[in-house]
Amino acid sequence: MARYLGAVCKLCRREKQKLFLKGTRCMGDKCALAPEKKFAPPGGFSRRFSRKESAYNIMLREKQKAKRFYGILEKQFKKYFKMAERKQGVTGEILLTLLERRLDSVVFSIGFARSRAEARHIVGYSHIEVNGKKVNIPSFLVKVGDVISVREKSRNNKSIKESIEEKVKSGIPRWLSVDAKKFSGEVIDLPSRNDVQFPIQEQLIVEFYSK
Ligand code: SF4
Repeated sequence: MARYLGAVCKLCRREKQKLFLKGTRCMGDKCALAPEKKFAPPGGFSRRFSRKESAYNIMLREKQKAKRFYGILEKQFKKYFKMAERKQGVTGEILLTLLERRLDSVVFSIGFARSRAEARHIVGYSHIEVNGKKVNIPSFLVKVGDVISVREKSRNNKSIKESIEEKVKSGIPRWLSVDAKKFSGEVIDLPSRNDVQFPIQEQLIVEFYSK
């Protein structure tokens, strides 16, 4: 399970946008991109940062932003793109909904974790079941009717408990339901483009790969 191991706030600074990679910290004033803070791009490239970007670079950045938001490396991201291309419909939209359907993403959206990185960790360490069976593959794609739950032995995990409580207060996406007392959630519908809250121009990603 390859993943990015560097400093994650640097990625937000590079994309000039909050990617919400650190859970609750992203909401507070410790965030490098908090409104009152001035931030610089990583590596001290402020001049290059302020230069007018080429069309290619704009497409590239949009693709990088999506990859980083979902915590996926290039090879796997491209696989999702190919998968989306093979399906009927608008490729960019299908790409985003496939990414939303990854088990780590669903575990985060249901509220078992505060960030997608934490969710990947929880899944990888076998704390999660799908339809009563242990699943430790973060890229597992959920479907309608799947029940995702925290395994019995992991229900005392303080971080998972606190995360669910916070999520119940803040609300979960339309296409999922959650029963906090049972540490369980269900996929009640497939996600649509409107369910992707992150500001992303998926058409630019499609154009990037079509070059
Ligand atoms: Fe990005 Fe979160 Fe770091 Fe802010 S705290 S820069 S949103 S990862």
